[in-house]
Amino acid sequence: MTPAPDTTLIEKIGDHMANALYFDLSRYVIAAGAMTILLFVFKRWADNRRIQTKRAKREDYIREVLSSVRTVVIFGVTTISTLVLREYGIIHFTLDEVPIALVAFQFAIIVLAHDAYFYWMHRALHHKRLFRATHLHHHKSRTPTPWTAYSFASWEAVTEAAFMPLFLLMTSLMGYAYAGFALFLFLWHMIFRNVMAHAGVELFPAGWVDRKWLDWICTTTHHDLHHTEGRYNFGFYFTWWDRWMGTEHPRYKEEFRKNAKPIFITPRFAERTAVLIAAIFAASVSLNGWLVAVETGIA
Ligand SMILES: [Zn+2]
Ligand SMILES: [Zn+2]
Repeated sequence: MTPAPDTTLIEKIGDHMANALYFDLSRYVIAAGAMTILLFVFKRWADNRRIQTKRAKREDYIREVLSSVRTVVIFGVTTISTLVLREYGIIHFTLDEVPIALVAFQFAIIVLAHDAYFYWMHRALHHKRLFRATHLHHHKSRTPTPWTAYSFASWEAVTEAAFMPLFLLMTSLMGYAYAGFALFLFLWHMIFRNVMAHAGVELFPAGWVDRKWLDWICTTTHHDLHHTEGRYNFGFYFTWWDRWMGTEHPRYKEEFRKNAKPIFITPRFAERTAVLIAAIFAASVSLNGWLVAVETGIA
């Protein structure tokens, strides 16, 4: 909704508040919820690939969900700040249609930038002067669950959320207007990878770490090991920063080989997967449609 010229800052913030909270909360609930349902529906498949013998307790789930709500509010405030900065012409991104190849290129760049940001921010939060106040809360989840994805202390949520406005500020200063659709894909990709990293079950097929062209993508075991031994595996999407900096867990590949199983697709499995993917897709499209309708003032 384009604000009237005399709209005050408070009114602008109010305009964006509901949308931002709704978008940030629904991404978390859809991704973590979809993973929970997936692990429940394919229970035998999941149990066979479980990384830890320990299970998360009821109080872990409660802590994770409650602190994730706080994270969503902090993410919402950051989203609002980004949108307000855009209205003031400080941050630029375009909602115009751009060629799909450009969207793919911009998506790749932002994922690479976020991977580097995450690795160094994450290592900094592990510094003994910062750990207790920022990152300890996330590490209370020794046995991660899909709901651990947003389980952050407030200060960690702020540093996690800061990436997007900082990245857009940089690209805007370079005179570059990012495509809104590339940002939208990035945010969905980020939450799905985040939930996969905390699934507690190795989702990647056996042989992944032994293939040169796949091994650079982090598996679930990669981040699960970080929750058991915080000294290793600080990376998020890719393994290269940990390898360059010598922080990869020495038994990473060995542990992965123990957890991962070949992914044999039976017709029953394929059918259930297709139904689940279709349901997730329909939910995402309806959500997107609703947001567009609200934005254009139809709803
Ligand atoms: Zn984690
Ligand atoms: Zn950590």
